[in-house]
Amino acid sequence: MLNIDFEQEDWMLEGSCLYSDTDLFFPVGSSMKAMKQANEAKAICMECPVVNECLDYAIRTNQDSGIWGGTDEEQRKSIRRQFRKTGLVVNY
Ligand code: SF4
Repeated sequence: MLNIDFEQEDWMLEGSCLYSDTDLFFPVGSSMKAMKQANEAKAICMECPVVNECLDYAIRTNQDSGIWGGTDEEQRKSIRRQFRKTGLVVNY
Protein backbone atom coordinates (compact mmCIF):
# COMPACT_ATOMS: atom_id res chain seq x y z
CA MET A 1 0.00 0.00 0.00
CA LEU A 2 1.24 3.46 -0.81
CA ASN A 3 1.04 6.86 0.90
CA ILE A 4 0.31 5.46 4.34
CA ASP A 5 0.10 7.80 7.30
CA PHE A 6 0.54 5.37 10.17
CA GLU A 7 -0.26 7.96 12.84
CA GLN A 8 -3.74 8.54 11.44
CA GLU A 9 -4.62 5.02 10.35
CA ASP A 10 -3.33 2.51 12.90
CA TRP A 11 -5.43 -0.29 11.40
CA MET A 12 -3.06 -0.36 8.42
CA LEU A 13 -0.42 -1.96 10.60
CA GLU A 14 -2.69 -5.00 10.92
CA GLY A 15 -3.37 -5.39 7.19
CA SER A 16 -2.65 -8.78 5.69
CA CYS A 17 -1.04 -7.01 2.74
CA LEU A 18 1.58 -5.27 4.83
CA TYR A 19 4.31 -7.64 3.71
CA SER A 20 2.72 -8.74 0.42
CA ASP A 21 3.86 -7.82 -3.06
CA THR A 22 2.50 -4.29 -3.69
CA ASP A 23 2.09 -5.06 -7.40
CA LEU A 24 -0.69 -7.51 -6.55
CA PHE A 25 -2.75 -4.69 -5.06
CA PHE A 26 -2.11 -2.25 -7.90
CA PRO A 27 -2.49 -4.31 -11.07
CA VAL A 28 -2.00 -2.36 -14.28
CA GLY A 29 -4.51 -2.62 -17.13
CA SER A 30 -7.08 -5.32 -17.78
CA SER A 31 -4.91 -8.15 -19.07
CA MET A 32 -5.33 -11.69 -17.79
CA LYS A 33 -2.22 -11.16 -15.67
CA ALA A 34 -3.70 -8.02 -14.11
CA MET A 35 -7.01 -9.77 -13.43
CA LYS A 36 -5.16 -12.67 -11.81
CA GLN A 37 -3.21 -10.25 -9.62
CA ALA A 38 -6.42 -8.48 -8.59
CA ASN A 39 -8.06 -11.78 -7.68
CA GLU A 40 -5.03 -12.83 -5.63
CA ALA A 41 -5.12 -9.49 -3.81
CA LYS A 42 -8.86 -9.81 -3.13
CA ALA A 43 -8.29 -13.29 -1.71
CA ILE A 44 -5.74 -11.83 0.71
CA CYS A 45 -8.23 -9.12 1.66
CA MET A 46 -10.91 -11.70 2.46
CA GLU A 47 -8.64 -13.10 5.19
CA CYS A 48 -7.62 -9.67 6.46
CA PRO A 49 -8.67 -8.67 9.99
CA VAL A 50 -9.11 -5.02 9.01
CA VAL A 51 -11.01 -5.45 5.74
CA ASN A 52 -13.92 -3.28 6.90
CA GLU A 53 -11.68 -0.47 8.10
CA CYS A 54 -9.76 -0.63 4.83
CA LEU A 55 -12.86 -0.43 2.66
CA ASP A 56 -14.25 2.40 4.77
CA TYR A 57 -10.96 4.30 4.40
CA ALA A 58 -10.89 3.72 0.63
CA ILE A 59 -14.42 5.05 0.24
CA ARG A 60 -13.87 8.02 2.55
CA THR A 61 -10.63 9.06 0.87
CA ASN A 62 -11.72 8.31 -2.71
CA GLN A 63 -9.00 5.78 -3.46
CA ASP A 64 -9.47 5.44 -7.19
CA SER A 65 -6.86 2.82 -7.98
CA GLY A 66 -5.86 -0.53 -6.62
CA ILE A 67 -7.46 -3.15 -4.42
CA TRP A 68 -8.69 -1.89 -1.06
CA GLY A 69 -10.90 -3.76 1.36
CA GLY A 70 -11.41 -6.56 -1.14
CA THR A 71 -12.73 -4.23 -3.85
CA ASP A 72 -11.39 -2.88 -7.10
CA GLU A 73 -11.95 0.57 -8.55
CA GLU A 74 -15.19 -0.30 -10.32
CA GLN A 75 -16.67 -1.93 -7.23
CA ARG A 76 -15.88 1.14 -5.14
CA LYS A 77 -17.50 3.38 -7.77
CA SER A 78 -20.58 1.18 -7.52
CA ILE A 79 -20.57 1.47 -3.73
CA ARG A 80 -20.34 5.27 -3.95
CA ARG A 81 -23.22 5.40 -6.46
CA GLN A 82 -25.32 3.13 -4.25
CA PHE A 83 -24.59 5.29 -1.23
CA ARG A 84 -25.43 8.52 -3.07
CA LYS A 85 -28.76 7.06 -4.21
CA THR A 86 -29.86 5.34 -1.02
CA GLY A 87 -27.65 6.49 1.82
CA LEU A 88 -26.91 2.83 2.45
CA VAL A 89 -24.30 0.28 1.44
CA VAL A 90 -25.66 -3.23 1.51
CA ASN A 91 -23.67 -6.47 1.60
CA TYR A 92 -20.35 -5.53 0.15
S1 SF4 B 1 -8.29 -5.35 3.26
FE1 SF4 B 1 -6.77 -5.89 1.68
S2 SF4 B 1 -5.84 -3.95 1.03
FE2 SF4 B 1 -6.91 -3.59 2.97
S3 SF4 B 1 -5.37 -3.82 4.57
FE3 SF4 B 1 -6.38 -5.80 4.33
S4 SF4 B 1 -5.17 -6.93 2.85
FE4 SF4 B 1 -4.56 -4.79 2.69
